[in-house]
Amino acid sequence: MQGWVAPLDEVPDPVFSDRMLGDGVAIDPTDSAMHAPCDGVVASAAAHAVTIRTSEGAEILIHVGLETVALGGRGLVPHVREGEAVRAGDLLISFDLDFIATHAKSLISPVILINGDAFEITRTNLNREAARGDFLMEIRRRNGALTAESLSQKRVQREASVGFAHGLHARPAALIANAAKGFRASLSISFGGRAANAKSVTALMSLGVRQGDRVIVSAEGEDADAAAERVSDLLRTAAGEPATPRPAAHVEPVLIPATSPNEIRGICASPGVAVGPIHHLRTAEMEVDEAGKGISAETEALTRAVVAVRSRLAGSAEKGSRAQRDILHAHIALIEDTELRRTALVQIEAGKSAGYAWRAALRETISALEQLDDHLMRERAKDILDLERQVLAALSPDATAAQDVPAGSLLIAENVLPSQLVALGAKLVGICTASGGPMSHVAIIATGMGIPALVGAGEAVLASVEGSMAILNADAGVLLLNPEEHARADARARIESHRKLRQASLARAHEDCRTADGVRIAVFANLQSGAAEATAAIEQGAEGCGLLRTEFLFVDRAAPPPEDEQAAEYESILRALDGWPLTIRTLDIGGDKPVSFLPMPREDNPALGLRGVRVSLAWPDILRTQLAAIVRAGRSGPCRILLPMITSLSEIRAVRAQLKDIHGGESVHLGAMIETPAAAMIASEIAQETDFLSIGSNDLTQYTLAMDRTNPHVSAQADALHPAVLRLIAATAAGAGEKPVCVCGGLAADLLGAPILIGLGVRELSVPPSTIPILKSVIRAISTQQAQALARESSRQPSAEAVRELARQALSGVLP
Ligand code: PEP
Ligand code: MG
Repeated sequence: MQGWVAPLDEVPDPVFSDRMLGDGVAIDPTDSAMHAPCDGVVASAAAHAVTIRTSEGAEILIHVGLETVALGGRGLVPHVREGEAVRAGDLLISFDLDFIATHAKSLISPVILINGDAFEITRTNLNREAARGDFLMEIRRRNGALTAESLSQKRVQREASVGFAHGLHARPAALIANAAKGFRASLSISFGGRAANAKSVTALMSLGVRQGDRVIVSAEGEDADAAAERVSDLLRTAAGEPATPRPAAHVEPVLIPATSPNEIRGICASPGVAVGPIHHLRTAEMEVDEAGKGISAETEALTRAVVAVRSRLAGSAEKGSRAQRDILHAHIALIEDTELRRTALVQIEAGKSAGYAWRAALRETISALEQLDDHLMRERAKDILDLERQVLAALSPDATAAQDVPAGSLLIAENVLPSQLVALGAKLVGICTASGGPMSHVAIIATGMGIPALVGAGEAVLASVEGSMAILNADAGVLLLNPEEHARADARARIESHRKLRQASLARAHEDCRTADGVRIAVFANLQSGAAEATAAIEQGAEGCGLLRTEFLFVDRAAPPPEDEQAAEYESILRALDGWPLTIRTLDIGGDKPVSFLPMPREDNPALGLRGVRVSLAWPDILRTQLAAIVRAGRSGPCRILLPMITSLSEIRAVRAQLKDIHGGESVHLGAMIETPAAAMIASEIAQETDFLSIGSNDLTQYTLAMDRTNPHVSAQADALHPAVLRLIAATAAGAGEKPVCVCGGLAADLLGAPILIGLGVRELSVPPSTIPILKSVIRAISTQQAQALARESSRQPSAEAVRELARQALSGVLP
C-alpha cells in the first residue's frame, strides 16, 4: 500500500494497538489499492481484509481502514478469493479512498502477523512514506537462528510413545500445552500425517493420539533441545496425569425391581434410587447474530466473556472436590487456548460477532474430536460444547436466563454438561441421559453430589413426557416411565423404608452380626482413601477393613509412593481402625484403573491385559516397596495382604518369594482375590498356599459373563447374581475348606445378594461403609437354613433376573 508507515501504537483501536490480533505495522494510505506484501495463499478474504499464508506458514492480515466491516462492502472491491495463490505485488483489494475516509472510523490500515507464537517480526520500516513494493517488514520463524546452518542446529525432533492412559484428551493435552508454553521454541507434535501446535490444547486433542501411539515432537528455537526433551518426556511418562476416577458402577446395592414394558435400560453412573417428575433439559442451540458490530467491540466482548467464565470456573474449582477441580482446570486450559482464541479473532476480524466467532472456533475442534475413534475423546467434545455455551451465555446473559427447573425433578437430557449439573444439582432427585458413559465428567460430579444417575440410556428416554412421573433405579440400571400409581407409591415407600431401616439399623450397627440362628458373620468396610474414611467406617459399625484399595496412594503423581510414605499411611489407617484388622490389597491398576507414572502399553483388551498382580510382577520394585511398607505397618496393628487378579499359583509363589526376602514378611497373612473364573476353579489349590480368599464379585462377573464393566452397552446386564457367577462362588467357598472366604465386590452389599452368599458358605463380607448398618440388620433377620435354601434354588435359576425375583420373594419380610 502506498502511504505513511506508522507503528501499531498509533492505530486508534485497542484491538490493534494492544496487539490483540498480533504485532505488525500500520499504513495510512495515499492510494486506493492494497497489494499482496508477499507470496502466499489467501487464507481468508473479505471485502475489507485479506489474510495471506506464506509457504512457511506465517499468516499476515492486511486490513483496509478501521471498522470497515460495517460498510458491508461499500467502497471496497475485492480481487482475490480464499484459497487463491498470490504473488507479492498482486492486487488484493481496491477501494474508494474518499468514501472510506468519510464513512469508516479511520483509513489507517493495519498489517498484522497473526501467528506471533511461531513467527516474529525482526525488522520494520516505520515512520516513513512508502511506495508499493518498498520494504515493509521482515518476518522470521521464531527460532533465533540467523543462518541456515544454525537453523538446522536448533531444529530438534524426538520420538515418543504416549503414556497417558487415555491418550491426549483434555487434561493431558493441557499438561503438555502448559509445559510447551514455558519454552520460546516453537513446538509441534506430529501423528498420523498431521501436525499440531503443542502449545494448543485443542490442536493436540484433535490429533486423536491414544496411549501407546508413537508421535514426533519437533522443536525449533534457541531452547529447542530442552523443549523437545521436556515435552517428549511428559508424553512418555505421562507424569502429572490426574487420577482417572473409578467409575461408580461398582457401587451397589440393588433394591427396586423394574419389570414394566416402560422400562429403559442404561448404565449406572452414580448409584441410588429416585422418584420424581421428568424434566427435560432443553439445551436448544443458542441464537447468535452472525454479523459483528465492529472488530473492537466484538473483541472486547469476547475477551470480557472469556475472562468472566474463566473466573467462574476458577471459583468453582476452588470449592469443588478434587475430581471436580481436575475437570475444571482442564476447562480453564481449554478456554485459554491460544489457537481457539486466534481462530475466533480471525472470524471477528472478518466481520463476525463474538458469539458467532467463538462458536465457529469451538465447533471446528468439536467436529475434529467427534470424528475420533475414541469414546473418551468424544466425551470430551461435550466439555468443549459446555465451554461454548458458557461463553455464549456470558455474551448475552438475557437470552440464557437460567432454565427454570422445578425442585425435585428427575432430569432427562441427551447429555448434561458439567456446568449445568453444578448449577442445577440442588434441584434434582436424579438424572438420566441418552448418551454419555460412566467415565464422563458428569458421572464423576453426580457421584460426588450424591445424585443417582443413569447414562447411555439411548434415544428412547428423550421421548418421555415432560412432567410425567418416573422411577430411576440407577443401581439396577433402569428408568421406569409412567409407573402405575402403586409402583410409585411402592418405590417411595421403599426409599422411605430403606431410609428408616437405615436409620433404625444404626442403633445396632456396633453389635456383632449373627444370623437368626446365631452364625457369626464378619462385616468389614471397603476403603479407598485414608484414615478419615476408616474412622467413618468404624462409626458405621465396621469390624475392620476387608479391602483397602491402595490405588489412591499411587494415582495423580509422577512416581510411586516411597516405603516410608506408604507405611505411614497404612499405620494411620490402622490407628483409625482402633485395633480392628486391615486388609491391604496390593496395587490393582491396569484395565480401567491407570496410573500416570507407569509406561503401560496401549492394549486392545486392557481388561485382559496387564492388570492387578500382573503389573506388580512386571514392576517388582514397586511391589517390593509396597510389601515392605505393609510388613512395617503390620508391626503396629493387625494387617494382612491381599493380591488382586490372581489366575495361577505361580503368581502367589512369586509374591511369597519377595515377602520372604523382607524381614518379618513371612509372618504376615497373605490372601488371594478370586476375581477370575480360573482362580475360582482352582480355589482349593490357592487356599492351600494362602491364608484367606476374598472374592471380587465385580471382576468375577465381568470375566465370567464376558461383559466389560466399563462398557455402557453391556455393563447394565453384568449382574453378579447370574447363576454362573453364583456357582463359581460356591466352588470357591467349597474349595477354601477351613480357610476364611470373604466377598468384597458389590454383591456383598447387595441386600438380595448377601443372604445368598451366606447360603453359599461365605462368612465375611466387605462393603462400602454406609451400607454396613442395614446389611447387618438384614443378616440378623435370616437363618443360615433359609439362606442355604435360597442359595440352592438360586444356582438353578435360568438368569440373574430370575434369581433376583426368587430372592425378593424369599426375603419379602426382611427387605425394605
Ligand atoms: C471386585 O472386582 O469385585 C473388587 C472388589 O475389586 P475392584 O472393584 O477394586 O476391581
Ligand atoms: Mg477387582
